[in-house]
Amino acid sequence: MSNPFIEIRNVSKTFGGGMFRGPGVAAVEGVSLAVPRGQTLGIVGESGSGKSTLLRIVLGLTRPSAGQVLIGGQDIASLRGTALRDFRRRVQPVFQNPASSFNPRQTIRAILRAPLEVHGIGTGRERDARIDALLGHVGLGPEFAERLPHQLSGGQKQRVAIARAIILDPQVVLADEPTSALDVSVQAQVLRLFARIQAELGLTTLFVSHNLAVIRQVSHQVAVMQHGRLVEFGPAEQVFRAPREDYTRRLIAAVPDPRHAFARKEALA
Ligand code: ADP
Ligand code: MG
Repeated sequence: MSNPFIEIRNVSKTFGGGMFRGPGVAAVEGVSLAVPRGQTLGIVGESGSGKSTLLRIVLGLTRPSAGQVLIGGQDIASLRGTALRDFRRRVQPVFQNPASSFNPRQTIRAILRAPLEVHGIGTGRERDARIDALLGHVGLGPEFAERLPHQLSGGQKQRVAIARAIILDPQVVLADEPTSALDVSVQAQVLRLFARIQAELGLTTLFVSHNLAVIRQVSHQVAVMQHGRLVEFGPAEQVFRAPREDYTRRLIAAVPDPRHAFARKEALA
């Protein structure tokens, strides 16, 4: 990989601990990863394997105990002032539960307008036009603009969260279990939307999930984490067809084959 857009260099994060408090929790240990521009890296692993911590480090929300993150060749720890503001615009998160970051008393229009206001982009009319266009782009009609979050289903809320993540025309989207709270059928629709937008906008994305079937649908490359360490990393095809690690094989074996989902559902009914 000659020119990665996101570079994670030997990153570690230990929570707690200290001279009199013992070693603390090593959430992430010596992880190095690189993602070329315009590709999605899927990060998979069991609960507690350090996926969210790693993502928060790349978002600049958690400071690593050691190591560096470079985006577009810039060490994100060195950003200050306008460079930091620019980073906040270029690098956008999508979290598992968008409702928790929506003000329940704000309309969807107000929620989507906020980032444009913060960054001083466009006139009022231009902002409204951008919001209407973006709602269409994520498969919601213009009537959704005047609704409140509680009037939307889980899948519709996650579509709004995706719209909010791309409204500032970012280069990087970092998604942490964005479909894990959704029903399986809705999950598939939101994943397709995510993959379409990633490709259309040429986004470089990290997509975290404990669900290997989900990772498989959206990823160019796959990283497998276990107990804070990277145990496998490679092109998605290779990792799924010929996993090198036992742990990865066990994760793959634990994923139900989607072709049998219907039969299984019937058997359970
Ligand atoms: P994952 O997203 O893969 O489930 P996390 O990154 O959330 O894993 O957690 C990795 C480990 O770090 C876990 O043992 C978790 O309890 C611990 N951890 C995560 N965040 C914190 C925190 N803010 N303070 C203390 N420990 C934490
Ligand atoms: Mg997590």
